[in-house]
Amino acid sequence: MNKDRNGRYTPPAPNLRGNYRDSCIVCRTGTDSGVGFRGPAEWALAGIRTLGVPKDEAAVVLVNALNDGLPDESTHFAPGKVPIGEFTAEVRVCGSCVESSGAPFTVAPVALGVPVYEYRGE
Ligand SMILES: [Zn+2]
Repeated sequence: MNKDRNGRYTPPAPNLRGNYRDSCIVCRTGTDSGVGFRGPAEWALAGIRTLGVPKDEAAVVLVNALNDGLPDESTHFAPGKVPIGEFTAEVRVCGSCVESSGAPFTVAPVALGVPVYEYRGE
C-alpha cells in the first residue's frame, strides 16, 4: 500500500476510465483475482479492512463491490454509506496484498469464481 510521508494512505491514479474497476482494492493495480464475503455488511467491511483497506475507504470499497454486481443502476447503493442487510460482496485483491496483510484468505481468479467467506454468527 502506498503511504505519504505522514503515513496517510495515498491511492495511485485511477485507470483510464477514471475508476478502480478490475483493480486490487489495496494497491489499486489491475488484478484478475479476488475474494468474497457473504453475510452482514459489517462482516464484509471487516474482511475488507483485514486486507489492508483503511477504515474511511472500506465503506466505499464495499458499496462499489456491491454495485458492480447490480446491472440496474436504479438499485445501486448510495456511495460510501454502509448498506443494511445481508450481502455477498466480491472484491478484487491481488495475491501479494493478501500475503502482506496476513489475512487468512485464499484468492482465486474472478473468472473461475472467487472463494466466498461466509459469516457464521458470533
Ligand atoms: Zn494488491
